[in-house]
Amino acid sequence: MRVPDFLVRQVFQPLWDVYEGSVRLKTMDELEKNQWKTGAELQLSANKKLTLICQHAFDTSPFYRARFQEAGIDPGQVKSPADLASLPLLTKLDVRENLSDILSTNYCKDELVPAKTGGSTGVALSIFCDAAGVEKRNAAALRSDQWSGWRMGQPLAAIWGNPPQAVTLKNKLRGFLKDRIMYLDTMRIDDQAIDDFLAEWKTVKPGLLYGHAHSIFILAEALQERGLSLNPTGIVATSMMLLAKERVVIEEVCGIKVTNRYGCEEVSLIGCECEEHKGMHLNLDHNIVEFLRDDGTPCAPGEDGRIVVTELINYGMPMIRYEVGDRGVPSDRTCACGRGLPLMESITGRVADFLVAADGSKVAGISIIENSLTRFPGIKQLQIVQKIPLLLTVNLVPDTGYGQEVEDELLNGLRDMLGAEMQFEINHVEKIAQEKSGKYRFTICKL
Ligand SMILES: [Zn+2]
Repeated sequence: MRVPDFLVRQVFQPLWDVYEGSVRLKTMDELEKNQWKTGAELQLSANKKLTLICQHAFDTSPFYRARFQEAGIDPGQVKSPADLASLPLLTKLDVRENLSDILSTNYCKDELVPAKTGGSTGVALSIFCDAAGVEKRNAAALRSDQWSGWRMGQPLAAIWGNPPQAVTLKNKLRGFLKDRIMYLDTMRIDDQAIDDFLAEWKTVKPGLLYGHAHSIFILAEALQERGLSLNPTGIVATSMMLLAKERVVIEEVCGIKVTNRYGCEEVSLIGCECEEHKGMHLNLDHNIVEFLRDDGTPCAPGEDGRIVVTELINYGMPMIRYEVGDRGVPSDRTCACGRGLPLMESITGRVADFLVAADGSKVAGISIIENSLTRFPGIKQLQIVQKIPLLLTVNLVPDTGYGQEVEDELLNGLRDMLGAEMQFEINHVEKIAQEKSGKYRFTICKL
């Protein structure tokens, strides 16, 4: 039996929020309205929230109190991000070494919601968020999911590794009446799994296809090889860089555009494409995002820089000037969609993906992969692992047309990007293995 979408949206989801005392839908309604305000109005409102979170952090977090004092900043006088320019960035190491001092003394640690993150970056972090903050974060994700064309209440298909199984009756009921998610486990994609997935798709009729960018691609490619297609009303790619070549295949198979989304576990959703697909709107309701040069000064529009986020809604564990580790490009364009939320042009590198060139500089994995995979048609997939400075292990899935010539060109291309002294070890493999999370990683630096 399939519950009608309008019943889910109008009845079951609101009832469930009342039952759980959640502010998710209420926040969602606010966010939906806010997105049409002007950029200036949204910035003004964010600046007010900034003053409040800074004052709260000063009052209840020993770590921030010391930081504000050392920087000579009166938190009540912080009226815009520029007023925080002398406050040191919050690094992953800071978080790891000062966790208990960062947490707000207004909350008992037990009542905060934990998240373990950052395993792939080499620095595993324990992050906490107060319960209302978690619901607000969920609402922000829902708002941006709707930009893809999907509507709340429609079922979802999640392409994920090790998807959760509903065990308790409550969770089963929740799955049936509220969440309505069907899964494809990317740890086991074979013909049988795809047949089962397609059969379930026909019954469930998901509106949204959702998952790690590369996992959605793997599904799309498998369908394309069989001459099959899918018909979601929205596609949201998350959690990793969406390669241009993969976007094309997904869009061919599904007949609609992919909505690329950017975020991390530590703070509320950072950015997401709208229907225009020209850059990503920043979630200014929940975050103030700074793009900084290496000397700490703000980037100009169009200039690539370090992404630094101040989250405005987590009072349990304030995240002020948190250096995500990723890089991106700010924008001063306004979007044709009419939303006042500011834009960023693109993500240029994710913290987990950088490799170290022979001269010691960092090179973004996305540009290495885009410049090699796309240029050489004889290579189906590629993964580059760096364990010691001048040696790269290249795991490569050969395609038709692969041979010595392609390999030589590939290595020359990699030397151009990473330095002539770089040595290579090539492994021909049948497929690129996934992480435990189901995520694929194309470049891995273990230095
Ligand atoms: Zn837009």
